[in-house]
Amino acid sequence: MEMIIKKACISLKQGDITREAADAIVNAANSSLMGGGGVDGAIHRAGGPQILEECKQIRKQKGCLPTGEAVITMAGNMKAHFVIHTVGPVWHGGNSGEADLLASAYRESLKLAVENNLKSISFPSISTGVYGYPVGEAAEIALRAVVDFLQGQDTTLEEVVFVLYDTRTYSAYEKALSKLCASK
Ligand code: ADP
Repeated sequence: MEMIIKKACISLKQGDITREAADAIVNAANSSLMGGGGVDGAIHRAGGPQILEECKQIRKQKGCLPTGEAVITMAGNMKAHFVIHTVGPVWHGGNSGEADLLASAYRESLKLAVENNLKSISFPSISTGVYGYPVGEAAEIALRAVVDFLQGQDTTLEEVVFVLYDTRTYSAYEKALSKLCASK
């Protein structure tokens, strides 16, 4: 399933984001930028030590990465060229600004992609693993944030792919995308 916004195509696939050949893949990192479990661990394992070295430099210069913001590094041994590291919110029940912070994580990642003249970017489902964000709600926010960004300005982006690891997550994004398509 896909949706076209101006010259960009938003699509969904099930799979492992570390194998994507996009210009950039997005990492659902934590504020420390020092690696972790889930997709973060998989990206550092597949990319090799270069990514952590760059993250350490960023930490030295800027400190921890606040929730909702993003930074970019090279992608080491992976097919992608860059990794955009962003921090999604931890789910605290929904009344702690989670939705705005999640939308911001997507938006700031897209901004960095455009600033670096990238054409393709692949996202995992940010915050819906260890951070506990309900996947149905997260999928709607993620897709809406990407659509709003692409509609709001002319960008270099031609391909935005959500690479979803498991069937349950894929189904949630499929449902959210159908709903979004139907409302247009
Ligand atoms: P967070 O801490 O932001 O919740 P997680 O890494 O725990 O991040 O989970 C985010 C999502 O990434 C989950 O849906 C998880 O299943 C998925 N995931 C884990 N490994 C990969 C991978 N290699 N490629 C794509 N998605 C992955």
